[in-house]
Amino acid sequence: MSATEAQTTAEPKFTLELTQDQKDVRDWVHGFAENVVRPVASEWDEREETPWPIIKEAAKIGLYGFEGMAQFFADETGLLLPVVNEELFWGDAGIGMALMGTSLAVAAIFGQGTPEQIGEWIPLCFGTVEEPAVAAFCASEPNAGSDVSNIRTTAKYDEVTKEWVLNGQKAWATNGGIAGVHVIIASVDPVLKSRGHAGFIVPPDTPGLTMGTKVKKHGLRASHTSDVFLDDCRIPVACVLGGKERLDERLARVREGKKSKSQAAMATFEATRPTVGAQALGIARAAYEYALAYAKDREQFGRAIIENQAIAFTLADMKMEIDAARLLVWRAAWMGRTGQKFENAEGSMSKLKASEVAVWVTERAIQILGGNGYTREYPVERWHRDAKIYTIFEGTSEIQRLVIARSISGLHIQ
Ligand SMILES: Cc1cc2nc3c(=O)[nH]c(=O)nc-3n(C[C@H](O)[C@H](O)[C@H](O)COP(=O)(O)OP(=O)(O)OC[C@H]3O[C@@H](n4cnc5c(N)ncnc54)[C@H](O)[C@@H]3O)c2cc1C
Repeated sequence: MSATEAQTTAEPKFTLELTQDQKDVRDWVHGFAENVVRPVASEWDEREETPWPIIKEAAKIGLYGFEGMAQFFADETGLLLPVVNEELFWGDAGIGMALMGTSLAVAAIFGQGTPEQIGEWIPLCFGTVEEPAVAAFCASEPNAGSDVSNIRTTAKYDEVTKEWVLNGQKAWATNGGIAGVHVIIASVDPVLKSRGHAGFIVPPDTPGLTMGTKVKKHGLRASHTSDVFLDDCRIPVACVLGGKERLDERLARVREGKKSKSQAAMATFEATRPTVGAQALGIARAAYEYALAYAKDREQFGRAIIENQAIAFTLADMKMEIDAARLLVWRAAWMGRTGQKFENAEGSMSKLKASEVAVWVTERAIQILGGNGYTREYPVERWHRDAKIYTIFEGTSEIQRLVIARSISGLHIQ
């Protein structure tokens, strides 16, 4: 076989071309974002309420639900999940988060649960097509945001009733209190700090779990955020993620001074960072596209404002930064799905870059729209408000830099 023949018959080893199936799903989600989400985005932002009618619409077409999510997760390249998130959040980030907030709890159960727990609880996170539900993942506390090791919520095992008893307060939980299933990160042994943490599933309507005051936010306002209180909240022994036996073994290893494989909250964040980056990308792309069209249309000094280099170069940079961020997101998603080791905190890189690009691009979009950009008559101010949370939740920009710095240096940088 000649070299040319070998080239044409060999399987391509590397491609950034999406498969036809991936493109079909992307276009399907884009259609939903454009036709169902966009037209009502401003309304739900103003209402600051969970958009249940949109969640129901998404459930009806299979975009919100166990099967849809399983399909996105199952894609062997890992790219489908970020692609879906980018399209949905291009439509609107508040509504996007109302639909995707559940996936944080799902990722925790999927990543740390036993096969039985995955089969039992993940479908319940979404509810049914007729009656969809949302789920919440609660790690943060008033005094444990970036410093997850400071979690004070406790889980004590009651030998008599064979139940876990949870006590504490969770802060800023997406879907907190309105969720069916809550995943709670709690300390089983406070002496061990984060190595003594475990994830617990609180089933729907469990007494002792209550919602605090709903948080009023700068952006992402169609997504519900609230404190969650746990007051002698009793759950069955089987509700600890991974099972009690495995937890006891892990804690015993840690007490003997041996290495423990997982830290409950960190394990969930590592897996979800590229997806969160993709959400930020969706917002950035929306703002870039809007600003590009506006700049071609708006005339000052007798010409379209895009004919000024100051505007055209800004748009060129916006496009380049978005594309660069997407490459980092896709790389991390592919690495995560195909089991590559994150040697240099590539997951953190993707989330950090995409979130900072989203804040910058949306701010530039306001500038390009001038006075109009600053008003609520145009969507770019909302996109800017929505983008800002991405440099804060799932690890602030500073924490992502810390993770990357520690990873590349092998040193415990403070
Ligand atoms: C809308 C929204 C939704 C959320 N959803 C969830 C959710 O579903 N589940 C959940 O568990 N949590 C959720 N959170 C909480 C979120 O993850 C935290 O707000 C975030 O981790 C930051 O913690 P903090 O707010 O306590 O900030 P802090 O940790 O107090 O940080 C304040 C500032 O100090 C900086 N800083 C802190 N430590 C260091 C350091 N060592 N070096 C350098 N700088 C440092 C930070 O980068 C930041 O700039 C949500 C928050 C919001 C606002």
